[in-house]
Amino acid sequence: MQLLGSFLAGGWSNGSGATQALLNPATEAVVAEVHAGGHDLAQAFAFAREAGTAELAQLTFAQRGELVAALAKAIHGAREELIALAIANCGNTRSDAKFDIDGAAVTLSHYADLGAKLGAHTLLGDGEPIQVGRTARMSGQHIWVSRRGVAVHINAFNFPAWGTCEKLACSLIAGMPVISKPATATAHVAWRLAQLFEPLLPKGVLQMLIGPAGSLLDHVTPADVVAFTGGSSTAQMLRGKVPHARLNIEADSLNAAVLGPDVEVTSEVGNLFLSDVVRDMTQKSGQKCTAIRRVLVPEDKLAEVAEGLKERLASFKIGNPELEEVRIGPVASAQQLEDVKAGIARLAAATEEVYGGRGEVPGPGPLGVPEGKGFFVGPVLRRASNAMTCAPLNEHEVFGPVSTLAPYSGDAAYAAAFIAKGEGCLVSSAYSDDRDWVQTFVTNAAPWAGRLFLGSSKMAAMSPGPGTVLPSLVHGGPGRAGGGEELGGQRGLQFYMQRTALEGDASVLKSLIG
Ligand code: NAP
Repeated sequence: MQLLGSFLAGGWSNGSGATQALLNPATEAVVAEVHAGGHDLAQAFAFAREAGTAELAQLTFAQRGELVAALAKAIHGAREELIALAIANCGNTRSDAKFDIDGAAVTLSHYADLGAKLGAHTLLGDGEPIQVGRTARMSGQHIWVSRRGVAVHINAFNFPAWGTCEKLACSLIAGMPVISKPATATAHVAWRLAQLFEPLLPKGVLQMLIGPAGSLLDHVTPADVVAFTGGSSTAQMLRGKVPHARLNIEADSLNAAVLGPDVEVTSEVGNLFLSDVVRDMTQKSGQKCTAIRRVLVPEDKLAEVAEGLKERLASFKIGNPELEEVRIGPVASAQQLEDVKAGIARLAAATEEVYGGRGEVPGPGPLGVPEGKGFFVGPVLRRASNAMTCAPLNEHEVFGPVSTLAPYSGDAAYAAAFIAKGEGCLVSSAYSDDRDWVQTFVTNAAPWAGRLFLGSSKMAAMSPGPGTVLPSLVHGGPGRAGGGEELGGQRGLQFYMQRTALEGDASVLKSLIG
């Protein structure tokens, strides 16, 4: 059995103690194992602080960009191998695996380009000089400078490549060494990335802990930062554990999609709306933090929308993602399956069935899977009679192929209030060509969302959909979504840098930032 080691303090270490198995979630076969502990994490932090910080401090943004570009190239070179690992360990279809792995490479490339653009500097100017004395000679200037600590990255199980690389790209360009910890259940892809990346990076710049966190957070000091993606209960624990460190949280999100009253279901925009809902229910078996969980539809179009979604969902084959015809694989683990089934049961108590019952896989069961094996749940569509008062809809994220429809009158302010009912989301979407409706919606919904996706006939043919996180736009959301912010081009560096106000001779300040 393959034992996955961790890359810590400049070398690979297997750890010790009990082992934890990484499974193929379609067959439940063991694909690899990790030791649950036995790593010297104090040494890893010391190594990052000394070697990693020193290595990065002597590199300009452009030189760091070259390192990040090399990582993107390494992913391209190993793309097929990484896809195979994601299919075997994450339950991904080939298309799901590409979404994760290509997303990682695209994000690294974006930040490599940003590094090149920021050039041969180590300080970033923030805004224009400000006169603070009697004449402009006595000036103020805000700058960004790399923080001198360790960036601890803790990632969720659903995007082992993209999650690892988006955090890594921002840290490296900003100049902070990283200790990265992927979720254990799907760590095989991240482990392989560490193998590919470590020879390309200066020592101490990237370390990766494979397996449970153990005492990881005990070593975090006020100079360090922790970037976390995962569930809200883990996030809550983290807040208490590292109260002194800068913490970014990307957690649960009850993302919504709203069909505007002006849109015909059979129109191009109507088709975009249906496609986006179905894609988010089925891609990665609904295990996307950005997936549409709540769908608001004008009352007079709800039956037509339900029919359109049912028809599309019925065409999806469920089973072992190694089979080409399969379009929905299993969820990632037995625990995930249990959580999704519990979420469906909670929804079922307060909503009507539209499609998929309680997530039973239709027909003969999952394709290409030994009988009784695998963590499968079929797509489930429910209908709530009242969008605002259905507590399970607005309070619990079901992290699987599950979504719920609800009717409304078409009022934009009500639609925005429905977004707010989720108490903060990563992304929500609205589909309308009525600019007044969109104006009211955006003004009232934006405070509750990290990103708003506005579907309309002018962009329908070139839309990436609301579920795709782009490196150029911020990712994160208020409230329930954790209150964090990642990516967004240059904004993504700020978490890893200190903003300092400088005061002095204007020409000195200018020479510092170049
Ligand atoms: P999770 O159970 O909260 O785990 C997330 C990460 O935290 C894993 O790496 C986990 O490690 C680690 N962890 C658990 N206990 C820890 C501790 N005591 N100290 C340090 N680290 C600890 O979440 P998940 O099941 O992987 O992911 C599903 C959730 O993530 C969903 O709720 C989803 O909404 C959310 N998510 C959010 C985003 C976003 O961008 N907002 C993106 C993806 C997913 P182990 O695996 O070793 O336990």
